Amino acid sequence: MKNYTSELLEQWDREYIWHPFTQMQEYIKDSPLVVERGEGSYLIDIEGKRYLDGVSSLWVTVHGHNKKDLNSAIEEQLNKIAHSTLLGLANVPSILLAKKLVEITPPGLNKVFYSDSGSTAVEIALKIAFQYWKQKDGGAFSKKIRYISMGEAYHGDTIGSVSVGGMEMFHDIFRPLLFDCVHVPAPYCYRCPLGLAKPSCGMACAQAVEEVMAKSHHEIAAMIIEPLVQGAAGMIVAPEGYLRRVRELCSRYNILLIADEVAVGFGRTGKMFACEHEGVTPDLMCLAKGITGGYLPLAATLATYEVYQAFLGTHSECKTFFHGHTYTGNPVACSAALANIKLIEEERIIGGLGEKISFLEQGLKRFIGLAHVGDIRQKGLMAGIELVKNKGTKEPYLWEDNIGHKVIMEARKNGLVIRPLGNVIVLMPLLSMSIPELDRVLDITYHSIAKIT
Ligand code: PLP
Repeated sequence: MKNYTSELLEQWDREYIWHPFTQMQEYIKDSPLVVERGEGSYLIDIEGKRYLDGVSSLWVTVHGHNKKDLNSAIEEQLNKIAHSTLLGLANVPSILLAKKLVEITPPGLNKVFYSDSGSTAVEIALKIAFQYWKQKDGGAFSKKIRYISMGEAYHGDTIGSVSVGGMEMFHDIFRPLLFDCVHVPAPYCYRCPLGLAKPSCGMACAQAVEEVMAKSHHEIAAMIIEPLVQGAAGMIVAPEGYLRRVRELCSRYNILLIADEVAVGFGRTGKMFACEHEGVTPDLMCLAKGITGGYLPLAATLATYEVYQAFLGTHSECKTFFHGHTYTGNPVACSAALANIKLIEEERIIGGLGEKISFLEQGLKRFIGLAHVGDIRQKGLMAGIELVKNKGTKEPYLWEDNIGHKVIMEARKNGLVIRPLGNVIVLMPLLSMSIPELDRVLDITYHSIAKIT
């Protein structure tokens, strides 16, 4: 017997919850969508209404909601133990998962440090990079304390990850709290920050990275990058070869490369990891979101042995990495991740993505005919549709136009849950989504944009 009604839940949601990235004064005016269940590609609300999940529940869901294999793996582990600490103890699923992650990530990454969210995975990579240079070769490189990151970057919301972020809207107010960071121009070809155009630009944005490195490498610990796609910036897709070039430059200038695969990892770009597209092994790799297929919070930061060994020494040498969260390496979350990867492998999910990716690509083509669609960017099953006030001049909609929000609310009325990034409508279907479902996502999105803009 339920001790609540849908009306009460809506009321309590407005009354008690402070939603993330949400202007609450506006939020409480609308009727909230209260999700109660999930089934495959669908979210089901408390009234039983079904919505296609067009953004994989914030880029996490891989095999669909309420998947039996994942539920069972979690249940099985729960019946053994829910949690034991990784500080000074080990547990079975975290060991098995670490071994698996080392096997499936680019060769050379062979140590796994667990945490619980994308932001913490990034925070850990930044701290490891910093401490690495302090300890390497008896401190010979201890002046390497700064980071290079991309304009428009998004790496999370903790102070360290915000420091390497490049989105003014999210980060500006916290500026006095943040550490200094060198930003290089984003490869945002539709609105090139260098005022150039492809292909005559000769990838000048990569040249800008080289200039910064040549000048400042003595003080740079690491460069952090979202490989191939800058997700939160509005699905900015880097030109082919950009990532490889950054890898070469980092090696040449003795700078660690941190690949933040939090959004792009686990198949979203069409390969298991985005770095694979360009044959790149970073020195540190951050994973989260899709790692458990969207079932439980878990993150991992992988490091090469070269990085790891700088932390080895006797107890009294104090080279230990003094970092760890209470739920680090949680066995239930690790079991979910193991089951997720097993399914990806057994069901040959990555190999089967080609058809869906092409379908999405074809389906997106007609959007460019809409009066207010300025640019369409896609890599794998990640897509961004940039809405503009004026197509000819690329004049953007203003913040107060709130155009993205209006479009997604229209889509919601028609049974599709999507979420905008400013003026960019994001589509990030589940890897398991069927072609007819994908078709419906495209159709609702198209008509919602056409109606609102
Ligand atoms: N890094 C990237 C590239 C992301 O896209 C995100 C979240 O969207 C994060 C880090 C932060 O992850 P989380 O929200 O799990 O802290």
